[in-house]
Amino acid sequence: MTTTDTRSADAARALFAERFGAEAAGTWSAPGRVNLIGEHTDYNDGFVLPFAIQHRTHVALGARDDGRIRVVSAFDAQVVDVALDELDALFPERRDSLPEWARYPLGVAWALLAASGTAPSSAIGVDLAFASDVPVGAGLSSSAAIEGATAVALAETWGLDLDRVALAKAGRRAENEAVGAPTGIMDQMASMLGRTDSAIFLDCRSLETQVVDLGFADAGLELVVIDTGVKHSHATGGYGERRAACERGAAALGVPALRDVTLGDLPRLADLVDDVTFRRVRHVVTENQRVLDTVRTLREQGPAAIGDLLVASHASMRDDFEISVPELDTAVESALAAGAVGARMTGGGFGGAAIALVAHDRVQTVTDAATAAFEASGFAAPTIFTVAPSPGAARDA
Ligand code: ADP
Ligand code: MG
Repeated sequence: MTTTDTRSADAARALFAERFGAEAAGTWSAPGRVNLIGEHTDYNDGFVLPFAIQHRTHVALGARDDGRIRVVSAFDAQVVDVALDELDALFPERRDSLPEWARYPLGVAWALLAASGTAPSSAIGVDLAFASDVPVGAGLSSSAAIEGATAVALAETWGLDLDRVALAKAGRRAENEAVGAPTGIMDQMASMLGRTDSAIFLDCRSLETQVVDLGFADAGLELVVIDTGVKHSHATGGYGERRAACERGAAALGVPALRDVTLGDLPRLADLVDDVTFRRVRHVVTENQRVLDTVRTLREQGPAAIGDLLVASHASMRDDFEISVPELDTAVESALAAGAVGARMTGGGFGGAAIALVAHDRVQTVTDAATAAFEASGFAAPTIFTVAPSPGAARDA
């Protein structure tokens, strides 16, 4: 399968040749993603509706015969070199001895060997060189992209009998246990299963997926990303606190996960938990319903009709879940004022990007309005670009 942009593939090959002194055997890649709607619902066993984007992380791979795995990224000058049979001792206990970024690909290698029951001694050694055009820490899941690229490259090289859902799970395990970020399965599933012009409707409890046509182009719409440039980290701080609040809410209601809570249960919950926990739960419960409503609306009326659901999702994240920041609110408000059909922050929050669904001929107006609003507020200039629903992880042509 060919991908839309070969520059990062070429960069990965060039980095491989420069740092490892040989030609790579091949390149593989996986995309970042935008979540259309369904935020912080994944780890609550709920629903999400992401799509893969055209920005990808590429990995150039070559085999080696000494049972070691070496990784290098355009991010970092250092080559990280470990024996495959050391991975079990590194994760999770000694992960802090590795540079943070290297825990992603090495964690995927570790998780893949475990998931497939492959002894490290029977897997061939590998060199991996990464190059990416996915913005990092922008809420577009550069983490799932590096995990997905590693997973497809190693699964093919090692001949592992693992399907795409198993590869996504290995990515999540790496992120949770090798990196220490308590994130859900959405990003990895989107990066693995993405399709042109489509979103992936994912039930995070059963991991069942349905491909949902987006039809943006036919409706004359573009999906605009407004990257605020505000960096976040999900390994620390607010993300884990939100997750803990969701667990408290589920425990108070005696259910395994907030997926099992309906709008009708909320009045009862108000007497059981404090106001903050209540609002955290209300976001998740209403957001799950908005995902279901968005899927139905897309199928029955098309994408021009989902704007109010996007706007309601943003309000819920701002007011109930409290994961927005002034830059994200400014992005959303300025896009809507300039005529966007709908807009919301996307990703885990505390920074990153907002998305706006915009008529093709208003993209420039919205871009100018958001840029001007940031300037008026004294914020650093945002990076604004359009994304297209794109194919998932694959070997490059
Ligand atoms: P997001 O997934 O929203 O971009 P995360 O904090 O989840 O943000 O993941 C970003 C981290 O993933 C980076 O800080 C880095 O450690 C790692 N990473 C992502 N892409 C690459 C890459 N191409 N090379 C090295 N590390 C990467
Ligand atoms: Mg991430």
